[in-house]
Amino acid sequence: MLDEIKKYAIENNVPIIEDQGKDFLIKIIKENNYHNILEIGSAIGYSAIIMAKISEKNKVVTIERDSIRYNLAKKNINEMGLEKQIIIYHDDALLFDESKLENKFDLIFIDAAKAQYQKFFEKYEKHLNDNGCIIVDNINFHGFVEGKRKTTNRNTKQLVGKIRRFNEWITTNDNYEVDYYDVGDGIFVIKRKM
Ligand code: SAH
Ligand code: MG
Repeated sequence: MLDEIKKYAIENNVPIIEDQGKDFLIKIIKENNYHNILEIGSAIGYSAIIMAKISEKNKVVTIERDSIRYNLAKKNINEMGLEKQIIIYHDDALLFDESKLENKFDLIFIDAAKAQYQKFFEKYEKHLNDNGCIIVDNINFHGFVEGKRKTTNRNTKQLVGKIRRFNEWITTNDNYEVDYYDVGDGIFVIKRKM
């Protein structure tokens, strides 16, 4: 079933988490005994399902703004019998009514529009448990952010600039410590300084 979801994603250009990133996420969740997870950007539910399946104790809240992907995610979650463990909201995470969140989270996985990383972070950081972490994926943006690859496309340039600014902002933020992992497309693990 998970393989089928992955196959659909590849065939339909749905940007699901890469295998390396997936293994990394699973490792972090297991090692730290994380059970309450918030995901920004469900796509078709692939990563939410993976995170929920690690343990029956895991609860995943995930938000997706695209209605086709949301519907598919909902269907996939139901077919896997995970509707008790995964709550999916159809909404723009930046407009989402936070009062619907009943508890704080051990892990917040930000995996939605890259240009908005800082906005997602600023909106959801208050929902993080003190000993939890925020994981942000695609920090390198396929080599563009590090300058290994160049582009003349205006939109791509703007996006690269935004990711660079987020990286700079978070790594110089006094409230958080950031660990960079060269996994997949680059991952930040961000924790509150105690
Ligand atoms: N986490 C998924 C992949 C997510 S792809 C996985 O690994 O399986 C990123 C998704 O974020 C896209 O489906 C896109 O529609 C969604 N997205 C982008 N901006 C968003 C926003 N502001 N609010 C909610 N979802 C958003
Ligand atoms: Mg991603």
